[in-house]
Amino acid sequence: MYDVIVLGGGPGGYKAAELAGKAGLKTAIIEKEHLGGMCLNRGCIPTKAYYSDIIGGCGNIEDMWDKKVRVVETLRGGIGHLMKLNNVDVISGEGSIIEVNDIKKIEVKTEQGTEEIVGKNLIIAVGSKCREIDFENNHIDEVISGDYGVNREDLWNSDEVKSVAIAGAGVIAIEFAFMLKALGKEVTILKHSDQILRSCDKDIKRKIKSIIKKKKINTIDYFSIEKVEKQEDNSIIVYGDSKKGYQEVKCDRLVMGSSMVPIVDGYGLKDTGIEYSEKGIKVDKSMRTNIEGVYAIGDVTGGMMLAHVAEYEAMAAIDTILGRDYTVDYDSVPACIFADPEIAYAGITEEEAKARGIDVQVGRAHFIANGMALAMGKTEGFVKVIADGDGKILGVHIMGPEASALIGEAALAIYAGLTAEQVAKCVHPHPTLSECFKDALFNVVK
Ligand SMILES: Cc1cc2nc3c(=O)[nH]c(=O)nc-3n(C[C@H](O)[C@H](O)[C@H](O)COP(=O)(O)OP(=O)(O)OC[C@H]3O[C@@H](n4cnc5c(N)ncnc54)[C@H](O)[C@@H]3O)c2cc1C
Repeated sequence: MYDVIVLGGGPGGYKAAELAGKAGLKTAIIEKEHLGGMCLNRGCIPTKAYYSDIIGGCGNIEDMWDKKVRVVETLRGGIGHLMKLNNVDVISGEGSIIEVNDIKKIEVKTEQGTEEIVGKNLIIAVGSKCREIDFENNHIDEVISGDYGVNREDLWNSDEVKSVAIAGAGVIAIEFAFMLKALGKEVTILKHSDQILRSCDKDIKRKIKSIIKKKKINTIDYFSIEKVEKQEDNSIIVYGDSKKGYQEVKCDRLVMGSSMVPIVDGYGLKDTGIEYSEKGIKVDKSMRTNIEGVYAIGDVTGGMMLAHVAEYEAMAAIDTILGRDYTVDYDSVPACIFADPEIAYAGITEEEAKARGIDVQVGRAHFIANGMALAMGKTEGFVKVIADGDGKILGVHIMGPEASALIGEAALAIYAGLTAEQVAKCVHPHPTLSECFKDALFNVVK
């Protein structure tokens, strides 16, 4: 009998297994595809391997596909090693929940047949998938789901595709749009509304809109896809209604970059009594479901769908099993968007702060005045700090070079409840991009 069974080997699942094993708990992890989950195999890592070459200029485009494969395989091997190191049994197969009251029983279909795994605790970490949008011909090969798009060689490793339409204007859609455009393809974003990156700060949204225009990425507002038709020349036409009336978009591929939804079917959840809805499995702050000994972490809970959130939720679940006390502070979670330039933020926006009735202070600094940004030739963008009346940092929003690396300090400041003055007075090194954050902080200090 295992102490902990983990269903799903993504960043949530393998982190939970690693921590459980490290703590001396007898642990099994069940994975039906590859360890690393969506993040490693078709999400965060492959996209950033491309990004580092296409936009970051770290490698050459001809080798990009092979490099991505090498990076993914290296990291996959690393996770396998990590599991071994922590005495975790990796079971390759598709798991279905059979029983959750008292003992937890999972049936696993493996290549060798079917086996039953039993344990005292179960952690569900099966992830999410792209929301399926219903329209005629939505399953033809030219229509690509955003959560599988990075592994389509026709998009990234061939000249066959010259034009791409992307449905959605969230993170996946925007990252794909910038990279595919930089590869020389004609890109059209089919937006569900008039918004881009809905959860971002308003100044960032305004700026990204103008950058998208400058880069000649086409956008159509309020586009609702009705059907896709294949043409004789192997292209497709996407038909749909929009604010400007019925429109036809001719392209070679359509990427469905719409929002992600938790996976709540296909593994026996509905007969278990575990509380869930289409928005995800219901959990408390310690990642406990309503059934004792059953936890859910990561995208399947329908919260912030980010790999690092899944990892920290894993820590919360294992700490709870071990009788310790750790919960994720969602108010300081950083998020990154690898556009050009990068976008990163942690904490709340100016609008959210105002909506909460907070006496808001805003400090800004622009990369155009930063020595390192000028030296790098990357001066577009800014840092915006949101603080309350006492100067306590509530949110930091960055658009600019290395925004994703800079946001760590901001997340720590918010997590620790620090004021702009406390962080600004900590000496920042010169000449660095971090001075732009420091300058924005000093603009809040009275
Ligand atoms: C294109 C793209 C880019 C992204 N970029 C970023 C980024 O830059 N940063 C970031 O933080 N997030 C990013 N994400 C989101 C990130 O990938 C997810 O938030 C993260 O992978 C969620 O982790 P998880 O462990 O909850 O689930 P997953 O990573 O989805 O892992 C779930 C695992 O469970 C397995 N599984 C499912 N059902 C079963 C079953 N019945 N039996 C056995 N195994 C099963 C699956 O095969 C999978 O391996 C991106 C996503 C996409 C699609």
